[in-house]
Amino acid sequence: MEQGTLAEKFELERCIQCKKCTRNCPSAKHGGIVPNEAVLGVREGRYDGDPWTCLMCHRCSMVCPKGIEVAGLVLALRNKEAESGNIPERFRRVYGNFRQTGDTMSIAGSVDEERNSLGLTKICRGPEVPGKLEIMSGRGTQ
Ligand code: SF4
Ligand code: SF4
Repeated sequence: MEQGTLAEKFELERCIQCKKCTRNCPSAKHGGIVPNEAVLGVREGRYDGDPWTCLMCHRCSMVCPKGIEVAGLVLALRNKEAESGNIPERFRRVYGNFRQTGDTMSIAGSVDEERNSLGLTKICRGPEVPGKLEIMSGRGTQ
């Protein structure tokens, strides 16, 4: 979806640039996305920031005095990037792990060593463990 279409869809002309969204944004506090700039940039058809630094906490949407769905806009920007194949490696890795193992995080080899030293069993991981997703969801037997 083009920026002009997004601006219409999210009615960005309502934005008064009060920056309340940005003041409440945990990502902006740490050098990430600046939501009021994203809104303005999209409205003017020139946004080229990084929507992947958003934490999807939705605080911006909750505090906006004009009722703008800022987080929804950021999500739409991500979808736009993803459609063009622009998905950061860190997200691909999490998704790849989940598809392959059912875990979002890789388990470091040191965890196995530590568990072993404590006399604990190895953590199951990977497709070689049949039914892992069922076990994790409590539907299977361990
Ligand atoms: S809080 Fe709403 S009105 Fe204020 S700058 Fe952010 S999007 Fe615009
Ligand atoms: S949803 Fe994203 S842009 Fe909005 S406040 Fe949270 S981190 Fe910031």
